[in-house]
Amino acid sequence: MGKFQVVRKHEIHCGHRVVQHEGKCKNLHGHSYIFHLKCESTELDNLGRVIDFSVIKDLLCRWLDDNWDHKLILWENDPWLLSLREIDATIVTVPYNPTAENLARYLVEVIGPELFKDLPISLSEVTLEETSKCRASYAISD
Ligand SMILES: [Zn+2]
Repeated sequence: MGKFQVVRKHEIHCGHRVVQHEGKCKNLHGHSYIFHLKCESTELDNLGRVIDFSVIKDLLCRWLDDNWDHKLILWENDPWLLSLREIDATIVTVPYNPTAENLARYLVEVIGPELFKDLPISLSEVTLEETSKCRASYAISD
C-alpha cells in the first residue's frame, strides 16, 4: 500500500557545539538551520490533502521558533553548560550531543508524536541542513 508525503521547509538560527568533536565543531558556533519536515499518511482528507500546510506551520514551525530559534543548544552533559548558563539563562539543553542527526531524531521521535497526537498524520522524516553542503536525516523505519 502506498502512502502520501508532504514536506514543509523551515529555517531557524541556533548556536551549538559538538562535545568531543575532533575539530572546530567543538567550539561554540552557529548555523542557519534549514529543516525539511516530512509528514505522511495513508489517507487524504476530504479536500485531497495529507494535511493543510498551515497546520504544519502552526505546530512544528512554531515549536521550532518558540523553542530553538536564536537559542544556544547544548548537551545536558556538556561540561561548559553550568558556566555558560550563568550568563545566558535561555540556553536550551537536550539529552544528547546536539549534532544535526540527533536534532533530527529528537523531532521525529519526541516532538512529532507530541504535536500530532490528535491528527491522522505522522512526522516521518526530518532532514536538517547545517550548511548548503551538509545535511543529515532521521526517518521512521517502515
Ligand atoms: Zn555546527
